This record gives sequence, structure tokens and C-alpha cells, in this order.
Amino acid sequence: MQVGVLAVQGAFAEHEHVLSELGVSCIELRNAGDLNKPYDALILPGGESTVQGKLLRDSDMFDTIKSQIEGGMPVLATCAGLILLAQHIEGDDTVHLGTLPVTVKRNAYGRQLGSFHTEAELKGIGEVPMTFIRAPYVAEASPEVDVLATVDDKIVAVKYGNQFALSFHPELDSDYRIHKAFVDNIQ
Ligand code: GLN
Repeated sequence: MQVGVLAVQGAFAEHEHVLSELGVSCIELRNAGDLNKPYDALILPGGESTVQGKLLRDSDMFDTIKSQIEGGMPVLATCAGLILLAQHIEGDDTVHLGTLPVTVKRNAYGRQLGSFHTEAELKGIGEVPMTFIRAPYVAEASPEVDVLATVDDKIVAVKYGNQFALSFHPELDSDYRIHKAFVDNIQ
């Protein structure tokens, strides 16, 4: 089993580190040619969603990744990755991959609380550390989306079929249960 980590911008190295701690092999997806390599699941890391969306389009990776996700490939998306998946971005007409029927609010915690750390219950896993960095939250989710975690009544983790998306950054904490649950579900 091999995981493809989108490596055009952002915190991809941290995800690779967690995968290697779990003994899972991964490849970096940096250009369209990398998408021909064998991988069974995708990680979309945090970073800057506008930049990532542009790089995906400019490098001709966009359509392939979108159809892989639509075709059922398991995907773990964190922070900017969640924004890339969202069907709607509040107050913005931009849609990136648009495979996840939610509305996200970018930079949702304002300037004061731009970054913070907490712990909260994640359905199916238990209490986990959550590091938020200029994070989005899910402002609205379609009924078929499974809400996995909320912090202060805001949705911060969802699952929709093969798509698992988080507002926070599990790759920055040393608790690997979220990545483990993700890889354990890959056939
Ligand atoms: N604020 C970033 C964005 O809108 C996301 C931040 C992150 O990934 N840590 O893309």
C-alpha cells in the first residue's frame, strides 16, 4: 500500500513523517507525471488553498486528482486541503475540487485566535489533540455528510464516503491515531 501526498505547497513533509512513523510508504505528487505512479490513497495537506488550487491547475494535476477522488480513492485532507475539497467557500465564488458537499469559512477564527491548540472528541477515535492554524471550519454540511468533531459548536472534522477532512493539523501533533485510522481503512 502506498499513499500519494500532494507536495506542491504547504505541510506535506509533516504528513510524510507521520506515515513513515507508521511504516507506511508514500510518494510525493509534485507534477502531472507523478499521478501515473501507483498509489492507493491521497493526502491533501494544509498550507494556502488559493496557491495550492492555482498550482494544481497550472501543473495539469487538477482533473486527474478530482476524478480519482470522485472515483472513490480515499483522501485525507487537512486545513487548506479541506478548502480544496469543499463545494462552497463562504463569501467567495471560487471552487477548487468541489467534491465534498460542505460550505467552508476560511480563516474562520479571526486574527486573535488565528492559531490555537485544543483537545476534543473525534467520533470513532476518541479525544485527540487539535492544532488550528488560520483554520477554516465547516459552516454548513449536507445531511449525508458525517460530522466527526465540533469545537465550540463549529464543525472541524467530517467524513463523506471516501473523503475525510479536518480543519486542524494532526500531522503537527505526535498522536498518530488519525493517520492510523485513515491508512487502516485503505484496502
Ligand atoms: N488559511 C489557509 C487557507 O485559507 C489554510 C490554513 C492552513 O492550511 N493551515 O488556505
